[in-house]
Amino acid sequence: MSAHQTRREQLAQRFAEAKIDALLVTSLKNIRYLTGFTGSSAFLIVEPDNATIVTDPRYDIQVRQQVDCRAKVSPKPLPTVEALLNKLAPRHLGIEAAHLTVHDYNRYRAALPKSTRLISTASLVETLRSIKSPEEIDVIRRSVDLNSQAFANTVARIKPGITEQDVAAEIDHQMRLLGAEGPAFETIVAAGPNTALPHARPSSKTLENNELLLIDMGSQVEGYASDMTRMLHLGEPDRRTKQLYRSVLDAQLAAIDAIRNNVRAAAVDRVARRTLATRQLDRFFTHSTGHGLGLDIHEMPRLGRTDKSVLRTGMAITVEPGVYVEAKGGIRIEDTVLVTDRGCQVLTPTSKELLVI
Ligand code: ZN
Ligand code: ZN
Repeated sequence: MSAHQTRREQLAQRFAEAKIDALLVTSLKNIRYLTGFTGSSAFLIVEPDNATIVTDPRYDIQVRQQVDCRAKVSPKPLPTVEALLNKLAPRHLGIEAAHLTVHDYNRYRAALPKSTRLISTASLVETLRSIKSPEEIDVIRRSVDLNSQAFANTVARIKPGITEQDVAAEIDHQMRLLGAEGPAFETIVAAGPNTALPHARPSSKTLENNELLLIDMGSQVEGYASDMTRMLHLGEPDRRTKQLYRSVLDAQLAAIDAIRNNVRAAAVDRVARRTLATRQLDRFFTHSTGHGLGLDIHEMPRLGRTDKSVLRTGMAITVEPGVYVEAKGGIRIEDTVLVTDRGCQVLTPTSKELLVI
């Protein structure tokens, strides 16, 4: 049985609990996970012992090459899906509430028989996706390694006078040269005061001596994301910067130490926050400690203060505490790690020393 078929069966096993007889999958990442199809337009109907993907003629050849379930190619995919569902006429049809527009919902409602109820589902496929198979972990490892190599190749070219945009362009270029499909998200390069913005966009600001440089980058390899943040300093950092860096690193290491199978995600977040609190820095830590990653750069679980999820062996997550002080600057350190029975494995091979150039 193919990996995709196994996943569809695992999904179907959750139908009873979700009180549905079939699921209409409209998230492209979920469709990729369940079938292997990588095109940009498709619908998937999953029944307990059957699945049908519907796409348009641009993907006629591709869909037959990639998927091992029934495939229908139609110049008008949406009416074709409606016709299929009409024929199937399930009593309870699950829809992915997070991945269906109100417009399309209304269309399905009007097109389907009165006897079919549309049931909102949440995260049915995403929950399966949060635990990675050994094959997926291999791909994530390759993504992480490539990402670190792209970082190393770029660092050799960083010097005062070039812009944040120059650095970001070089990173993206290196990723592609090394075989990535591209960046997994818009590469973040922030220098000096811009480091205080956790999601800064690379600007035309030039790198100056005696300032911090934050690089947050992720590659996409065979569809899978990696994610890493590293800090550099142009010239020798002062004592305060070194202390701040040490505090964030301590919080990151403490959080990593707290990770293992069956631990609540919120507990890991708390460890990072408490470590920063011992240095009165917790109020500058304004985001969550990490997130799952895979086919999406942000997926389940979230390692936030109020998150209810429990970490499980096989989850790939990031650990990325940070402190951000307006007008001064910010520091974040981020690794991709794999949850194991007894702890976790840090996949990111790049050194976590503050890199002085
Ligand atoms: Zn990141
Ligand atoms: Zn991240």
